[in-house]
Amino acid sequence: MKNKLFVMSAASGAGKTTLKDKVIGEFPDIVYSISATTRQPRAGEVDGVHYFFKTKEEFEKLIKEDGLIEWNEVHGNYYGTPKFFVEDMLRQGKRVLFDLDVFGKVNFDKVYPDATGILILPPSEEELERRLRGRGTDSEEVIQTRLHNAKKEMEFAKTKGKYEYTIVNDDLERAADELRAILRQK
Ligand code: ADP
Ligand code: 5GP
Repeated sequence: MKNKLFVMSAASGAGKTTLKDKVIGEFPDIVYSISATTRQPRAGEVDGVHYFFKTKEEFEKLIKEDGLIEWNEVHGNYYGTPKFFVEDMLRQGKRVLFDLDVFGKVNFDKVYPDATGILILPPSEEELERRLRGRGTDSEEVIQTRLHNAKKEMEFAKTKGKYEYTIVNDDLERAADELRAILRQK
């Protein structure tokens, strides 16, 4: 699975969605894995494009039916990686990019130990907070939860996360170039 499966993780607001959206179109053989979540859609988010939005009951059914490669409760909601899509894409010879929280990545590694891990870091805690607020998609309570969780997520990622690459997302163009260089490897 080396260079076939890529797992990106970051504290919320570090910019991994922005980075992913910027470069993925340049790689026709790479598809983005759409996760299932119980989180409410943000303005502009479309079911089946950004996430598969599920009720708690629907999500728990997916867990029971063994439909997920991994799942985790993140910032108070369930998030998980549907199995069918990844298996289907690998059969078609595609490569797959995942966006997983740092704890979910550890469970993912149990199924696909050779996936390439990419940790995206914000330039500073202050900038992370600025970006979360600047995004304008979350309530103050949600922002506080995400900032509170960011520290332990990054501590965990650096000590136990097994990320092969770290990208500091200060300058977007440079960070995008680093991501491109990683995805170009086959
Ligand atoms: P994530 O997916 O990691 O939660 P987003 O991609 O939604 O983060 O980015 C959070 C906010 O930060 C967005 O408003 C985005 O436009 C902004 N952002 C992302 N990367 C940069 C960057 N390098 N410099 C400045 N702002 C950025
Ligand atoms: P957001 O709500 O900002 O879209 O995502 C919140 C967090 O959930 C991010 O850290 C993101 O990486 C994580 N996440 C998204 N999809 C999945 C998934 O399928 N599994 C796991 N474990 N985490 C996910």
